[in-house]
Amino acid sequence: MADIIKLLPDAVANQIAAGEVIQRPASAVKELLENAVDAGASDIKLIIKDAGKTLIQVIDNGCGMSETDARMSFERHATSKIQSADDLFSIRTMGFRGEALASIAAIAHVELKSKKLEDELGTLLEIEGSKVKKQEPVSCPDGTSISIKNLFFNVPARRNFLKSDAAELRHIIEEFQRVALVYPGISMSLFNNKRFLYQLKVSNQKQRIINILGSNYTERIIPMEQKTDKVNIHGFIGKPEFAKKTRGEQYFFANKRFIKHPYMHHAVDSAFQELLPSGAFPTYFIFIDIDPGFIDVNIHPTKTEVNFQDNQLIYAILRSSIKQSLGKFNIIPSIDFEIEQSFDLDNRPADQPVKNPFIREKTGYNPFDTAGSALSQQRNTLPSSTQNRNTENWQDLYEIARGKTDTGMPEPQKEEASAALPSLESAVTARFFQVQNRYIITVIKSGLMIIDQHNAHMRVLYEKFLASIQDQKAASQQELFPRNLVVSPDDAEILREIKEELEITGFSIKELGSNTFVVDGTPSGYENNNINDLIEGVLENYKKDIKDVNIDKKVKIARAMAANMAVKKGKKMHAEEMEVLIDELFRCSVPDKTPDGRLTFYTVPFDDIDKRFL
Ligand code: ADP
Ligand code: MG
Repeated sequence: MADIIKLLPDAVANQIAAGEVIQRPASAVKELLENAVDAGASDIKLIIKDAGKTLIQVIDNGCGMSETDARMSFERHATSKIQSADDLFSIRTMGFRGEALASIAAIAHVELKSKKLEDELGTLLEIEGSKVKKQEPVSCPDGTSISIKNLFFNVPARRNFLKSDAAELRHIIEEFQRVALVYPGISMSLFNNKRFLYQLKVSNQKQRIINILGSNYTERIIPMEQKTDKVNIHGFIGKPEFAKKTRGEQYFFANKRFIKHPYMHHAVDSAFQELLPSGAFPTYFIFIDIDPGFIDVNIHPTKTEVNFQDNQLIYAILRSSIKQSLGKFNIIPSIDFEIEQSFDLDNRPADQPVKNPFIREKTGYNPFDTAGSALSQQRNTLPSSTQNRNTENWQDLYEIARGKTDTGMPEPQKEEASAALPSLESAVTARFFQVQNRYIITVIKSGLMIIDQHNAHMRVLYEKFLASIQDQKAASQQELFPRNLVVSPDDAEILREIKEELEITGFSIKELGSNTFVVDGTPSGYENNNINDLIEGVLENYKKDIKDVNIDKKVKIARAMAANMAVKKGKKMHAEEMEVLIDELFRCSVPDKTPDGRLTFYTVPFDDIDKRFL
């Protein structure tokens, strides 16, 4: 029988391997940016056309390549970064597998210009699908410029699998940010189609974060640092009151490489424990610098998972340093309604400011806790909020029953009031009353109905907004004092994407350039205290759904607006407001659920109540 095993031609092998390294334009961006960093560049320009589908170009002023190196760089396993297996344990560069350029060249049209400082002339190379089409000397600046055109030209399956330009661009921005956040010492720019999304100057670490995420971060982040002989952990954490509803701003970098690490994430979460309301995510930018010998280096270039040899130690150091930082900066929770109440109960003299952080811990022992004693003292002097709340509730009920309350309970209806019933009766016959500034309770024929005010309002607004987006009309009210809204470049991109729909619902938004907008009209009939917060909140909620391709854009926008504009928990509601809300809720097409599927109300049947008393 004839032999049937053949070696695959290089071009085919490269194309197959490319699938692992380059999944989308953003993967190529990541590889090129990392190469520029490894080349010691102090300036990196990224130019994108059509979300990378037409062009990805990276220009750096790094070390450049000789003619031979330029040619070699496109060979598989060609790398200048390691020479022996031992090097693997001390690697500090971003790449080292020598796969990226070979992979990219297998599935795109690549043009490379590169020149070393000491050389007179540089090298021009053109490669298409692994075939060298041109190689000649060229006069060009020091450093390297690589253009990738027609990515996946010979892999239609990949090309068809790409998402919308907006989605692919988001991935690119994400990769750009991950590199830019770690290298504030490198000036970096990102140019997309006709506009600069970023022009980042050399700056310190904090300023770089602010330049990337928006100037409002100046007040939102605080530094943290902890050095031990094994590891240096440093970076910035977000103040709890600015915590996000999306996971967006959570970054770990191990030796300057972006990583995902659920276990370390848990360390951060637990340090923030009880400082955040439920559903909020802490913001963090944390850099873990450690001897490369203590990290599992055998990582795939596209993988963001890594392993530390001493996970538990790093966990403990990380957690304690975040707590210390929260303590040092006097972070006291101001969001949790219930915790705030317990502070009110504490009759501390006005001239003694609260200095220590309020952090309730579940575990007692923390080997790194230097601020520990102060914390536990503080903890002990605080009244238990749960206990107090319960007694208060009983008291409330008692007072309501005696008609002595003014907690937003409506007046009894006229005809019933005139029947001169005892006060207990009149309280019960009131149509709606609010408890805990959060639930509305009412009596229906079959039982007691408990309505969650926020969820209910979300449903009402969602149906309204969706209807107006679909019908293309809604009233707008003019803002008397519009203020400029400056958002991060990636949020600006999202805002441009949904601007038209927002305007249909009644917003009026104008772009002033350089990520600055002015909102001078809002949907009429809604109370807005701070329009900028409102828009930020809408963006925030929109981002939560953004990756879900199964949800229609209009639905995403209506949901985002509803979630943000719905009356909050903790807000006292007046009788008429409750009445209008309930009335509108039951005119909705799906009154019982929020647009994302949570209950809006719940009924306790009288039958059940009756059974309890048998
Ligand atoms: P790796 O980065 O894993 O070594 P790549 O395929 O990304 O593999 O790059 C191969 C080699 O090409 C690198 O090791 C480096 O020597 C060279 N190279 C790539 N990009 C640049 C650049 N922008 N400037 C200088 N040299 C580069
Ligand atoms: Mg590389």
